[in-house]
Amino acid sequence: KKGIVAIVGRPNVGKSSLFNRIIREKKSIVEDIPGVTRDRIYGNAEWLTRQFIIIDTGGITLEDQPFAKEIKIQAEIAMTEADVIVFLLNHQDGLTDEDKVIARILYKTKKPVIVAVNKYDKKGLSTDAYEYMSIGLGEPIMISSTHGIGVGDLLDKMIAEM
Ligand code: GDP
Ligand code: MG
Repeated sequence: KKGIVAIVGRPNVGKSSLFNRIIREKKSIVEDIPGVTRDRIYGNAEWLTRQFIIIDTGGITLEDQPFAKEIKIQAEIAMTEADVIVFLLNHQDGLTDEDKVIARILYKTKKPVIVAVNKYDKKGLSTDAYEYMSIGLGEPIMISSTHGIGVGDLLDKMIAEM
């Protein structure tokens, strides 16, 4: 059975950019759970000959629901369906209150959570990562989905945790 990795994070952190970089193509699967749209969220991926499935939970949307409800559903689908969860943050914003809401949901899971900080476009100080340790989900991997920085390290860690 293929491993499943789910990307969770608030809007605009770069979930779809990371997903597209990892799959290098777009897949479209829509399931008909009433009120829940799942559009183009599952992709096949391969890294170091290991094949796995990646889920962009940002593509799971609820009709007319506030952020807190939608992100809760996205995180819960990730915790149910995935073997490994990637919690994506955005270095341009730092840690936000919405990130902390998501973290509190993810604390409940026994599955491995990998924290990745996106939009780290220029390799900076190694101490930049410490800011994100306070969220209590381990040492983050600093990445840039658009430039490709750190994405190989993230893939290595996904495979290792699968
Ligand atoms: P999502 O809402 O989490 O799926 O985020 P998207 O993948 O749609 O990205 C939101 C915006 O951030 C888009 O304009 C992307 O081009 C931009 N973006 C994504 N990754 C990076 C990155 O590594 N660096 C920079 N500078 N912008 C990024
Ligand atoms: Mg998206």
